[in-house]
Amino acid sequence: MKPFIGITSSYGDEKTLNTSYDNIDSITQAGGVPVVLPNVPTAEAINVTIGKLDGMLITGGGDIDPHLFNEEPLPNLGLLHPQRDQFEVALLNEAMARNLPILALCRGCQILNIAAGGDMYQDIYSQITKPLLQHTQRAPRSFPFHTIHVTEESLLKKITGKSKYRVNSFHHQAVRRLAEGFHISALSDDGIIEAFESSEHSFVLAVQWHPESMATDGDVPSRKLFSAFMNACQQNMA
Ligand code: MN
Repeated sequence: MKPFIGITSSYGDEKTLNTSYDNIDSITQAGGVPVVLPNVPTAEAINVTIGKLDGMLITGGGDIDPHLFNEEPLPNLGLLHPQRDQFEVALLNEAMARNLPILALCRGCQILNIAAGGDMYQDIYSQITKPLLQHTQRAPRSFPFHTIHVTEESLLKKITGKSKYRVNSFHHQAVRRLAEGFHISALSDDGIIEAFESSEHSFVLAVQWHPESMATDGDVPSRKLFSAFMNACQQNMA
């Protein structure tokens, strides 16, 4: 049986679900069966959903409500979808409690950290005083844009075999204080946390970039990331 993978979704407008086919195609390509999850934040819906899934892909999207980590909104905060935040926080906490494999991408990286008790920059450019790299690339979506330095003893290093490589970048928010139970798996040259992973779960990995857009364009490290996620989901089924 192929693993059944829940893909979280965003909003096109307030009445429309929205997710990129790159998310769907990356799961299919790696050997999984994808299902797109609507943002229904009730405990019952979440329990039933998680009970049917073998893994979860937490996708990218808009900004995150700063009240989730006890901050007021700053001027450069972007578009929020509070119901999505609420759904994903509850979904992630339940998934982690059940040791379900999780791959979190971009916004997914930040919401995972917040669900676990960490916090984030609402806008890196106005909140970090030292010079930063450009993290919102003006280049094709799959283009490897800035370098990441991968932690030697990390799952990410084990998966990709690489200590340093380039990834795409489409974020102005980023993880600030990493939640307990997680460790950093990659940093950019300017010290932004570009990937982290759980020290306690079998496969909980978050990346600040969009490997789904690179994997569907043939990028080898991105393909390996999705394959490793699918292997973890397979093992979880056994
Ligand atoms: Mn970046």
